[in-house]
Amino acid sequence: MDFGFTASEIRLKQEIADFARREMPADVREGSPDFERQFHGRLWETAREIMPKAGARGWLGPAWPVRYGGRGASPIEQVICFEEMAYWGIPGYDMGVGGISWIGPSLLAHGSETQKLEHLPPLAQGRRFWCTAYSEPGAGSDMASLQSTAVRRNGEYAVNGQKVWTSASPVADWCWLLLRTGSASSKHRGLSLFVLDMRTRGLTVRPLAAMTGTTPFGELFFDDVRVPLENLVGEEGMGWDYVVAALEYERASVGVVYSGMVRRITDELIAVQRNVPLAGAGQRAGIARHKLAELAVESEICRLLAYRAAVPLWGGQPVNVESAQAKVFSTELSQRAAQLAMELAGLYGQLSDTERATSMARRARAFYLSSTGNTILAGTSEIERNVIAQRGLGLPR
Ligand SMILES: Cc1cc2nc3c(=O)[nH]c(=O)nc-3n(C[C@H](O)[C@H](O)[C@H](O)COP(=O)(O)OP(=O)(O)OC[C@H]3O[C@@H](n4cnc5c(N)ncnc54)[C@H](O)[C@@H]3O)c2cc1C
Repeated sequence: MDFGFTASEIRLKQEIADFARREMPADVREGSPDFERQFHGRLWETAREIMPKAGARGWLGPAWPVRYGGRGASPIEQVICFEEMAYWGIPGYDMGVGGISWIGPSLLAHGSETQKLEHLPPLAQGRRFWCTAYSEPGAGSDMASLQSTAVRRNGEYAVNGQKVWTSASPVADWCWLLLRTGSASSKHRGLSLFVLDMRTRGLTVRPLAAMTGTTPFGELFFDDVRVPLENLVGEEGMGWDYVVAALEYERASVGVVYSGMVRRITDELIAVQRNVPLAGAGQRAGIARHKLAELAVESEICRLLAYRAAVPLWGGQPVNVESAQAKVFSTELSQRAAQLAMELAGLYGQLSDTERATSMARRARAFYLSSTGNTILAGTSEIERNVIAQRGLGLPR
């Protein structure tokens, strides 16, 4: 079987590489590949500036229909755009959190025509950033136990409650929001999905700090927030089904993102080790050589697993188990890669961004700190293994 890229796919990869070298300010290009840091300071300014340029080139949602801002490209092109932008650390390429990878596809599948026309073109043009609010203080893995409510009153919904760990919420324009519209006893059947303008009155965002020193998440507080009926996505009470499908997109996309990021750190470690051996000579160098070889092999496996989930999915075919496999493998690999990068960077890996660390050491440190959360977001490793064991292998619950 030929796993190679076609000539036009290779050209696309090259165009994105050239774009990254030309359009990204040097300090951002040399900076960290940390996904969560992109919603802060200099990276966020760059994301706002650079995404409309990526959108103009047709790299955001390229497989979406032309009517909604896409260019009807193949699913593999969409995967390549996503992976290459992750490889180069171009900030904003998921248009906030999930804009391109699961909110766009979910709106295509379940949104009204008005919602598609209102939200998809600004995403594909790089102009509207999103956040995703599912988790609550008492509802993470067991998402269906969430408590925040949307109650129909006087021709609109009144929303009350609290969300937590909402990535990108301090800077996002719109929110993809899961709420309870039915009774607590109806559990899964009582959930509905909404889109919400983040400037809506009654919504307060309190930024939450991460150990990377930035505030990538927020807590959302809803105090009788009025939401128009037309902001409901699909049918009331069907939110659980839509979110289960959206999670397949999320997990497959996580696989693609970490495939790109791990490949980048692998390439950099190999280049550095080739030129200025970080691990010195002798036995340590031999160990480093073997570890790098292993990382290169695993990085290739990661890419194949990610493609196996994302390409059919972005072509419209459900891939529940494959997306869980891609998610668990890619995120656990990102932690092994970060660990190795720190080992090879040695004490330089402990220097902060403002100190005289090399680009690779800065990258290693940021990747190491942020990778901790990778096996928690989008479903913990335990939850992914449950999906693989129960749905993939037919093991009992
Ligand atoms: C970097 C990062 C970004 C995030 N971004 C977002 C976001 O944008 N939007 C959003 O809504 N949420 C976001 N989250 C929250 C994330 O989805 C939840 O943290 C995650 O689902 C786990 O929920 P919890 O933290 O409540 O842990 P819990 O669900 O309480 O889990 C605690 C532990 O118990 C284990 N566990 C729970 N249930 C089972 C089970 N059935 N079988 C085996 N083990 C189990 C878990 O694996 C975990 O180890 C983010 C989290 C992180 C770390």
